[in-house]
Amino acid sequence: MRISAQAIWNGHGTARPGRISIRDGRIEQILPPGPADIDLGEAILCAGFVNAHLHLDLSLPRPTETMVGSFDDWLLSVVEARQQLGEDGRTIQAAAGAEETLAGGTTAVFDIDPAGASITALTDSPLRRLLLREVIALNSRPGIDFEALGHFLRGANDGDRELRGISPHSSYTVHPEVLATLLPWCREQDVPWAMHIAEPTWERELLVDGSGAGARFLEGLGADPASFRRGQTMIEALHGSGDLTRHGLIIHGNECSEDEIATIGDSGAALVWCPRSHAFFGRAPHPAPQAAKKGLDVLLGTDGKVSSGTLSMLDEMGAARAAAADLDIETIWKMAIVNPRQWLARSGHPELLGSGTLKEGDPADLVAVSIPDGDGPLLERALSGEVLGTWIDGRALQPEMLEDAQ
Ligand SMILES: [Zn+2]
Repeated sequence: MRISAQAIWNGHGTARPGRISIRDGRIEQILPPGPADIDLGEAILCAGFVNAHLHLDLSLPRPTETMVGSFDDWLLSVVEARQQLGEDGRTIQAAAGAEETLAGGTTAVFDIDPAGASITALTDSPLRRLLLREVIALNSRPGIDFEALGHFLRGANDGDRELRGISPHSSYTVHPEVLATLLPWCREQDVPWAMHIAEPTWERELLVDGSGAGARFLEGLGADPASFRRGQTMIEALHGSGDLTRHGLIIHGNECSEDEIATIGDSGAALVWCPRSHAFFGRAPHPAPQAAKKGLDVLLGTDGKVSSGTLSMLDEMGAARAAAADLDIETIWKMAIVNPRQWLARSGHPELLGSGTLKEGDPADLVAVSIPDGDGPLLERALSGEVLGTWIDGRALQPEMLEDAQ
């Protein structure tokens, strides 16, 4: 099958007119303009978006445009919302989130899930996924049930589209003694992990001194804040213990210093930026644009729909653009297409998502985005375009839209 478009983007440089030929669900080659089975016209055609951070079971409507109350209250309200949904409710939310994700041109997700709602919801979904099992351990005991986690890791029900990993939830919800056994275990198993790090403003004081608003938050949960005192930040601690490696995905990192960002870059780990969620919480400007300028691989994620508003990666890229007006437009697109695939490949799993550069043999996971009229680079204009089609393994997921385009 051949698909032609005014702008084929192979993950770097300018987009050019041409065709992509697909054989057996994989990219065969990029061809010059010519006859095709589908002609998309004025559209960008490129590898599908990767949403590098979301919680599918929290695909609830956003209650307000910006957070009301404190971050601590917000965290507790999310825990409560999950409880109220129950197991079936969470699965229904996750399935709805997966549908919205695919309709938005996203062909792969890195999802964090505490109890398996995403596994059930995605059983027959074409969406490629890294499913990360969330671990929360406020106390040092009982510690980790490694047998159960090992069982989870080996249980992927579709090896071609599902990979599993671990998510120690955050610097302040996993006891240091527990984390000290969990991350080395992930490294031994050679599995990816993702962790919310340096997200709340109080995290630094909690970890360095064992005090502040974070300490009071932990006390409210019945945990001992003094046992979370490390005398250093989480990035410093992980670097010191040898746990900051190419397996790691640092989620948010809002409060990371320039040195910490450089440490993340040197380690092979990657940083996930969620600009809309970040704005929802009313936080200070994020270090990601500066980090990207210095060459760090920044990935983009929506975070839960309950804080981002939608699961559209095009909307997320638009928000990234608005927050980083002086970045090269290609850098923004790479955050959603090339960087997440490169990180996954670096972490030991190049086969799941391919390269994002339309290389021969990559899975034919593609997105087409319309290019509104106007001036400026095509990639810039397409940020306010619409998703015309999504393909996974070369199969179209919105055939009715493609019929219109033909
Ligand atoms: Zn999150």
